[in-house]
Order: sequence, then structure tokens, then C-alpha cells
Amino acid sequence: MAKKYVYFFEEGSAKMKDLLGGKGANLCEMKRIGLPVPEGFVITTEACKEFFEKNDFPEGLWEEVLRAMAELERRTGKKFGGEDNPLLVSVRSGAPISMPGMMDTILNLGLNDKTVEGLAKATNNPRFAYDSYRRLIQMFGNVVLGIEHNEFEDVLDKIKKKYNAKQDVDLDVNALKEVVKEFKKVIEKHGKNFPQDPYEQLRMAIRAVFESWNNERAIVYRRINNIPDDMGTAVNIVTMVFGNMGNDSATGVAFTRNPSTGEKELYGEYLVNAQGEDVVAGIRTPKPVSELANEMPEVYDQLKNIAEILEKHYRDMQDIEFTIERRKLYILQTRTGKRTAKAAVKIAVDMVNEGLITKEEAILRVEPRHIDTLLHPSVDPKAEKVVIGKGLNASPGAAVGKIVFDPDRAVELAEKGEDVILVRPETTPDDIHGMAAAKGILTSRGGMTSHAAVVARAMGKPAVVGCEEIKIDLKTGKMFARGKVYKEGDIITIDGTSGEVYDGKVPLIMPEIGGELDILLHWADEIRKLGVRANADTPEQAKKAREFGAEGIGLARTEHMFFGEDRLPIMQEMIMARDEKERRAALNKLLPMQREDFVEFFRVMEGYPVIIRLLDPPLHEFLPSREELRDEIEELKYKLKEAKSPKEIDEIMEKINEKKKILSVVNNLHEFNPMLGFRGCRLGIIYPEIYEMQVRAIIQAAAQVKKEGREIYPEIMIPLVGHVNELRILREKLERVAKEEMEKEGVEIKYMFGTMIEVPRAALTADEIAEVAEFFSFGTNDLTQMTFGFSRDDAEAKFLRKYVEMGILPEDPFKSVDRKGVGKLMKMCIELGRKTRPDLEVGICGEQGGDPNTIEFCHIIGLNYVSCSPYRVPIARLAAAQAAVKHKKEE
Ligand code: ADP
Ligand code: MG
Ligand code: MG
Repeated sequence: MAKKYVYFFEEGSAKMKDLLGGKGANLCEMKRIGLPVPEGFVITTEACKEFFEKNDFPEGLWEEVLRAMAELERRTGKKFGGEDNPLLVSVRSGAPISMPGMMDTILNLGLNDKTVEGLAKATNNPRFAYDSYRRLIQMFGNVVLGIEHNEFEDVLDKIKKKYNAKQDVDLDVNALKEVVKEFKKVIEKHGKNFPQDPYEQLRMAIRAVFESWNNERAIVYRRINNIPDDMGTAVNIVTMVFGNMGNDSATGVAFTRNPSTGEKELYGEYLVNAQGEDVVAGIRTPKPVSELANEMPEVYDQLKNIAEILEKHYRDMQDIEFTIERRKLYILQTRTGKRTAKAAVKIAVDMVNEGLITKEEAILRVEPRHIDTLLHPSVDPKAEKVVIGKGLNASPGAAVGKIVFDPDRAVELAEKGEDVILVRPETTPDDIHGMAAAKGILTSRGGMTSHAAVVARAMGKPAVVGCEEIKIDLKTGKMFARGKVYKEGDIITIDGTSGEVYDGKVPLIMPEIGGELDILLHWADEIRKLGVRANADTPEQAKKAREFGAEGIGLARTEHMFFGEDRLPIMQEMIMARDEKERRAALNKLLPMQREDFVEFFRVMEGYPVIIRLLDPPLHEFLPSREELRDEIEELKYKLKEAKSPKEIDEIMEKINEKKKILSVVNNLHEFNPMLGFRGCRLGIIYPEIYEMQVRAIIQAAAQVKKEGREIYPEIMIPLVGHVNELRILREKLERVAKEEMEKEGVEIKYMFGTMIEVPRAALTADEIAEVAEFFSFGTNDLTQMTFGFSRDDAEAKFLRKYVEMGILPEDPFKSVDRKGVGKLMKMCIELGRKTRPDLEVGICGEQGGDPNTIEFCHIIGLNYVSCSPYRVPIARLAAAQAAVKHKKEE
């Protein structure tokens, strides 16, 4: 039997989207459930694919189309090309995945110089007939013959002017005849012809719709939306119904719920005496659908009724295209409606309450990025904006403020109540106070895991990083962007959601966390298997994390606690110490401060686990850089020359010597690869008194809080372990310290001792490591860096982005865990670890822990929890629930 390329609407169903395209499958479905859909048929995507193979209709297709047309004639009682009462059809594209407006559609096919007269006579409406004819010639000329839309529009405008017609509808039949004549001339001018034979029109139109699958727009759209290129489009041949038959006819679009608020109401627009795309093309101002209730109440009721039927049937909000021909309603399309973040959440929750969908389905209906949008101010999409640069969208949300290049200045201005954007080539731990004071952060260098990006996300602050086209000159205090020079105080807007930077103040929309979001997230909590914790370095962040629903702290980095103004000098003293005794003296000064930090943390996280990571970064990060020190020494030497008194000379000399001493320490600490260097547990082993002090502080704090009657669960985490012996030595030493402290305090603290898994060797020997560690936490930033051998500080800007563009990597592995490589290591690590210690607690605290795709993977390989920055906690709650729903069947 020959292949079947053509399906009448009654032969298909919504399940056949791959074969019939979304539009076609839904037309079939609507026909099946008895809705008023005009007669028609679908040419399959299979035919389209075969068309591309041989650049011609597959064998038998055209014959099948002819037979289907004959059947359409029989059903409608009209003749295609008939000179009285002709059958007209539309030829519409429709891909398996909706690509709105990307491909082409032609209406009124079958009209020619003769049939137009027949139509005029049969309807007793010559104006309508010629209006339809001129539309056909224009669409055919554009879509099939490839002539610019504008050429036709220009002609139409000229004739409108000539007849003093404000709008298309003001043109009478004679004017429209003139339009037809002029349109044909446009086509002739291009050496082409408008075919008079309706079957020729049909053949060419089908071909053109096939080919529209590969037009520029469609290709770009597919690339952006990750739609495969080989699906092909179906072609829908639909009997024409007419919204342009007069004032009792109309065309429109409607949503079954308000797509911007989610409100349950019929929402949409329509235009009287119009056809097809007139509504969206903005030819005239459409009326809100609610007005139809007055204008044609019985049609409105029918539409409302159909909207309800469709929603019940599809169990989701629908976006409907309809046409009214002389008060008779036809539905021409339905599909799942696009919606804003706010509407997505409201609709999902409402539909559960209406009994339309389950909680599991509601969870899947909301996209994680929706939640992201809801929790941050965003740029008003309607606002006019001038883009002055585009970088990486490192931390979502938008911010407006004055440019400030210096972190101290940022603090100063912020204290005066000014909104500032901290603009730096990149940021370092020295800039944190400025970042905290700023509304947003913009850097010209660095990637998604650069200091600026990580800290901004932790702070929940909008940030655009690695915006390389912007040049920042800190010396002169200038920023150059797209030909314009900016200085301190100039206002810019940054959009950390899109990565764009705008000139001046762009209006923002403030976040609203409605009751529905809360409800939805609580459902997510019921469903998910993964725990969700937060990475927080300060009690304030921990508080925020609790508000957002975190069930503990997955990573509290202690190094941030040493950067405070009151602490850095002591820290430096410790580093500069000549021997252990001096070092201990400095550490003893830090101990009470550190203890206070932990006390607050434990109070905020009462009843939940708190993982504290002992000191991780290389020591040089706490000292000025070599360049800075050399500059300072030069400056002092210069001052020496100008010195007036011996006393002054002595003072300056002392300072110089001080700086030189620091410089020599910095020189000693210098490493070519500090990230692979003397840091983490390596430091903790060589200078055991640092970790000892930290453990003392933790246990003392825990004891204090416990005495307040609060339940606390500290977990002590060692960074950068690669060999079980490292952990063994540390555990032995630190347990002793912990015991000592507990005895001193006279309380028993239940705590866990564990390690980060961030050196590949640790993952590979997880069975051994688990003998000493009670918990693992994947530090996927370092693990990714060391597994790939990519430096995360440089790779992004230098080549990683290119790698993703070129398709070498499907995604940035620092954003979303590389399942095949790093992921395999993680999976193996868990299996090995749990072989030794079946109740081993395993989590993730790398940046990827807030990424939905990574969260899904973590669910699959059986982690206990994910930990991410406080602002990503709600997203993680949803994503974890989605993973649980999606993989329920497999379990
Ligand atoms: P798109 O995919 O761009 O939405 P469509 O194929 O849906 O394109 O066609 C656009 C519009 O043309 C429809 O919304 C409808 O108003 C009009 N249209 C299409 N086919 C017909 C038809 N058979 N009768 C009347 N109007 C039609
Ligand atoms: Mg449409
Ligand atoms: Mg690390």
C-alpha cells in the first residue's frame, strides 16, 4: 500500500503532533470532540521530510492532495476554481513544536480573476470578494514568490491616501480592484506571475510552506529554543471561513485565562470585518473580547463555553484563534498558552484547587526560571532602552544606579542613600563591602563562577559579569561603552537576568511573592526527595535562606569571616607570625570573633544542620598583592625624599620596613597555580593551629547555643581532601580538640565530621575516604575544574563560551554539572562511599547545586540534599520536586 501523507481532521488526534504538527493535531482533536472547526486535512511532516530529501513532492502526495480536495468539495458543496461560489482554502504551516509566527500561512487560496467574481455574486458582497483577493495576492506574492511585504504595503498606502481612506476597511470595492491591479504589477515588476490556476496556486503554496521550515527566522528560532532541525512542518489545508464579510463578522484571539495575571477570565482581542493576522499586525486597534459580550452576546457565550470545554479537555490554559463569519463561530487553532511567571504559578495552583490537575502536574507546569523571575525585580519589558553592552547573566534581577568604580566610594554613597552600581574590571574579596553596598554589580572580566558572580548570587544581587565590550579605566575613573564615555555618578541599568546593560534609568518591576507561590512550593516540599540547604556565609544570609525554605546550611565558608575590617589585621598578624607561638597568639584573638559568628548562625538555624567548612583559600588572599606592596614602597621612598624632620624620616623608614616584611612573606607565599596550591586541608595540616582554633570556636558556640535550649547540628567539613590520610590526621587532632572543649563546657555536642569531594582522587578513593568521613559534600566547582583541567577563573572568558557556541560542550560545565564526566565521578563516588558507610550523607555545595538540570541529576544518583545560594532555594525546591515527579515511574 502506498504511504499515507494526508489525514482528514477526523482521522487524527492531539497525540499525533509529531506526524501532523501541533496545529494540525489540535485541529483534529477539536473536530473529534465536536467543536466548530472548518473542514480540512493535514499533510504530514513525513511528506515534508521526504520533500527535503529530493527537493520535490514525494511520490503519490499530489494525487492524494487532489483526492482530498475532491472530498472537500463534496463536503462543502463548493468547487475549487468554480466560477460560482468557489471553494477557498488556507494553506497553513504547523510544526510539531509550536514556533509562533516563524513560518508561513496563505489565506483565500483558489481566488483568481474569474472566481473572485463568482464569490462576489454568491455572497452578494463584491467588496468582501476583492478584499479577499488582494489579501491572497499579497500573501502569495510574499510567501511563495518571495517579494518583500513592504512593496505591497506601499502600494496599499498610496491607494488609501488617494481615496482618503484612513484604514483598509474604508476602501470600497473599486479601490480594492485597483489594489488588486497594482499588486499584480508589483509581481510582474519582479518578472513573476500570479498563477490563475487554483491547483497551481495550491501546489506552489504547499511547496512554499514546506520550504518555510528552512527560512532564516525559523532556523534561528529553532537554534535558540533547542528544537531539532529535522522534524519538518506539516501543512494544513483548511476551508476558508470569513471574518471580513462585514460588521457581523470578525477575527480574534483568546486565552482561556489571563496570560499575564493568571486570572480566570476569557481574555483576548478581536477585530470586526477583518481577516487572519489583522489582529496581531496592529492594522486597527482591536477590541477586548469582553466587548463581544455586548456586540454579539450569543457568539460570546459560545466562545466562552468552548474555552471551558477546551481547558477541561486539555487540562491547561489554551490560546485560541477564532473567526466569526456572519455571527457563526469557528475555531481555527488552539494550543497551550504562553504565560508570565506570575500567571504560571497562579494557574497551576488554581487548577489544582479546581480539581483539574494534580499537585504533581502543577509542579511540572511552572518552570524554575519562572520562580527566578518572581523573586527579583525585573526590567519593564515595555520600557524603551538603549543597550550599551552585553555580558554574562551571572545573577538575576535588574538594578538601576549611579556608576561607582571604587568599593569604598560605593559604601560612602550608599550610606547617603544613593543607589549605586559597582563597576569593576573584576572583583576580589577586598571589594565585598562595596558589593554589599551596591544595588548591582558589573564587571568586564570573569565568568559565571568568578568572584563577582558567586558573591553576587550569594547576596541575591543582580550582576552582569564578563561584559568584555565595556572598557573600564580605574585610573581615570571612566567607562567606555558603545562609543560613549561614562564617569562616576552616571546612571546605568543592569539586567542580570539577560546580561544586558542599559544607558540611564530603565523602569523596573518589583517582585511580588503571592500566596500561590508559597502554596506551590509547599507542595514541592511534600513531593521532593532531595533536601534543600543553602550556602550562606553570614547569619543574614542564613536568615534569608530560612525565609526561602532552606532546611539547613550546606556550606558556610569561614574565610569570609576573616575579611572584616576588625579581623583582617589579626589574620595578617597570624600569617606574618614568625613561629607557632606568635601564630597561636593571633589566633586566640580571632577565636572569640569566630565563636560569635557561629553562635548567630546556630541560632538562626535552630533545629537544622549547619555545615561549616574550615579555612580553604591560600593565605596570600589575605595579604595585599605584590604589585600593591611595591607601589606602596615606591610611594614611601618618594615621601622619604621630601621628609622634613628626622622623626618623620624614622617613621617613614619604619613603614617601609614593615611593607618590605610583608612583601617578603607574600613573595614566599607566591605560587604559580594557587588554586592547585597550598590551601584547604594542606594548609590545615601544615599549620594545625588554624583548624584547631576554628573547631574550638565551633564547639564553644554550639555549647553556648545548646545551653540556650536550642537543638543544633554542626557538621565540620574539611576542604580539598585527596587522600584518606589527610583526613585521618586532621580528624584525630580535631576530635581531640572538640572533646577538650566539650569537657570544658560540660556539654555533649552531637556533630559530624566530613569532607568536601572536590579533588578527583577523593572521588576515586571514596571507599577509603568514607572510613573517616561521616558525610560528603561535592564541591563541583573545583571538581569540574580539576576533572576537565579547566581553570574556572580563566576558561570562561578565554574559550569556554566559544566551546559551547561551537557545540564542543553542550553547556557550560560550571553552570550545569557535566553528567557524563564529572557526573560519572560523582555517581561512582557515592557508590563507593556508601559501600563503606551505608548511611553516608551526601550533598552538593558547588554553584551547580542551584541549577535545575544538576538538581535532577543529583536526584537520580541519590544525593541526600542540594545546597545553593539563598535566593536559589525556592528554585531548588521546585526543581527537586520536578525531578521526583519525572523519575517516579522509574523508581
Ligand atoms: P500562525 O501559525 O502564524 O498563527 P495560522 O496558520 O494560524 O498562522 O494562520 C493565521 C491566521 O489566519 C489564523 O489565526 C486565522 O485567523 C487565519 N486563518 C487561517 N486559516 C483560516 C481559514 N481557513 N479561515 C479563516 N481564517 C483562517
Ligand atoms: Mg495561528
Ligand atoms: Mg573548593
